[in-house]
Amino acid sequence: MEIQFIYSAKHTIHDPVYEIYDGQKEPYAEKAERIKSIESSLKANGFKSFYTPKVFPLKYILAVHQKEYVSFLRARVLKILPEDILFSSYYIMDTYTPLVSRTYEAALTSVNVALTGAECILNGKKLIYSLCRPPGHHAEHNRMGGYCYFNNAAIAANYLSKKGKVAILDIDFHHGNGTQNIFYQRADVLYISLHANPHDRFPYNSGFAKEKGSGDGRGYNINFPLSLGTTDRQYLKILRKALAEIDNFNPKYLVVSAGFDTYEYDPIGGFKLTIPCFSMIGEEIRKIDLPTLVIQEGGYNVEKLGKIAVSFVRGLTGS
Ligand SMILES: [Zn+2]
Repeated sequence: MEIQFIYSAKHTIHDPVYEIYDGQKEPYAEKAERIKSIESSLKANGFKSFYTPKVFPLKYILAVHQKEYVSFLRARVLKILPEDILFSSYYIMDTYTPLVSRTYEAALTSVNVALTGAECILNGKKLIYSLCRPPGHHAEHNRMGGYCYFNNAAIAANYLSKKGKVAILDIDFHHGNGTQNIFYQRADVLYISLHANPHDRFPYNSGFAKEKGSGDGRGYNINFPLSLGTTDRQYLKILRKALAEIDNFNPKYLVVSAGFDTYEYDPIGGFKLTIPCFSMIGEEIRKIDLPTLVIQEGGYNVEKLGKIAVSFVRGLTGS
């Protein structure tokens, strides 16, 4: 199956040098080399259809995020000097998500990468992979966190939802608290996530199985918290369950929040997935046979990210 990639080199302007982990300054894990490594490995392996994003109006972001939050992000970075870094405020949920002077611009571009992919899907493409950075699935309606500022997957899914029901499958190691938060009360967008049990890992306070949606959205939020050390076989078994739920929901479109921090040697993760497993994950997703938009989320083993992405894309495309 054909696949096209949406990519902008502009993500490199978001370049915090450190985060604060356990009270200590640590090198920033969500670095530009992540996406560069994925892009260059895909190209080296014969995947060459790369396109730059279009620019979309702010209304698509405002359809998902609170106006005051968007204004804060836009205005606050203007006061940050190029050498400065800002942590923690009312709108920032942790100390892993700093603002630097060009964060807003990079986050906007990342949204455009996602929306351009969604537009291609609406125009009849079957499979698009948006190489978003910064990632998005931890960004809530009015809060940034977990390296995420705007929720790329949620903004794209909301855009697609005008034309039919959307399922979001989140396969990042961490629970996508932001995406869950945004769609928690909606029945037209199913959110389904496989992730580390929040008792063990970030975001700690969301991602439990008992969180099933509320109001109209009751039953349209499905969490599969998994144990640390989850293996390929255990993971694929639950993935098939998740895909059966999606099949039941009968959506028109599928959005995949693809994080590669489930890899066995990811510095932040804690599962045991091998590189060939990502191909099997891709294959399972291909079998469901829906127009599919893949959105890049996490994955922090820079050395292996390219190989993981190639394995995943081979499964997705059956090549
Ligand atoms: Zn993650």
